[in-house]
Amino acid sequence: MISLTSVSKSFGSGARRTVALDNVSLDVPEGDIFGVVGQSGAGKSTLIRTVNLLERPDSGSIRVDGQELTALGDNDLRVARQGIGMVFQHFNLLSSRTVQGNVEFALEVIGVDSRERKRRAAEILDLVGLGAKASSFPSQLSGGQKQRVGIARALAARPRVLLSDEATSALDPETTRSILELFRTINRDLGLTVLLITHEMDVVKTICDSAALLEAGQIKENGRLVELISTP
Ligand code: ADP
Ligand code: ADP
Repeated sequence: MISLTSVSKSFGSGARRTVALDNVSLDVPEGDIFGVVGQSGAGKSTLIRTVNLLERPDSGSIRVDGQELTALGDNDLRVARQGIGMVFQHFNLLSSRTVQGNVEFALEVIGVDSRERKRRAAEILDLVGLGAKASSFPSQLSGGQKQRVGIARALAARPRVLLSDEATSALDPETTRSILELFRTINRDLGLTVLLITHEMDVVKTICDSAALLEAGQIKENGRLVELISTP
């Protein structure tokens, strides 16, 4: 579903050049919850941002749902991104809009009409367990509730792939558990393929089917979780 082939990305030049991704290849099968784990600075954030081309790689191929993203023009890329939802560590909600308004905004920018926006936003907020908070503003919510809004927004355009950029890193352990459970529900009931990055091995152990270890921009281990964990 997601295929990175020989993806490299550097920042800066000369003595200040940093290689963030060094010839990374990765395959995420359809329907998987796939985790990329690594320490701070390993290149996780750069990696996940290349998957929807928020970060354009210097070289390599990025295929999502059969489409080579690096070959697309601006308009086609915009359409392809509707199939790729993204959830962020710091939620990135619009503080001036209500919960419902935040979810509707994601549909407004892709041209869904007002009536349909309202209907779909209400439906997705119920799905993430926030139907009762539709009229609240983000400042009135707990961290876990804010992230549920972030997830609802990411699902609004009905993507096939969900990217999670340290979605639980700002949350306490109990809230983390409930958000991970929600990811699992989304994976199972909506059939979304989930790619997440995290610095916490526990997150990977809790929900991932497969995982890869990223170190200094390179994939070190990669496989089904049962096999990775049983390796001495
Ligand atoms: P992680 O998410 O694992 O912490 P990042 O992908 O954020 O790692 O960063 C990988 C490396 O690339 C780090 O050395 C970081 O300093 C560098 N880097 C990331 N983004 C930029 C940028 N926009 N400009 C310069 N260096 C960057
Ligand atoms: P630009 O017009 O600058 O290329 P976009 O309109 O594609 O940027 O994206 C604007 C912002 O929306 C991005 O910085 C990112 O935070 C967010 N974003 C882009 N694509 C997605 C997506 N598929 N799911 C969730 N958020 C996205």
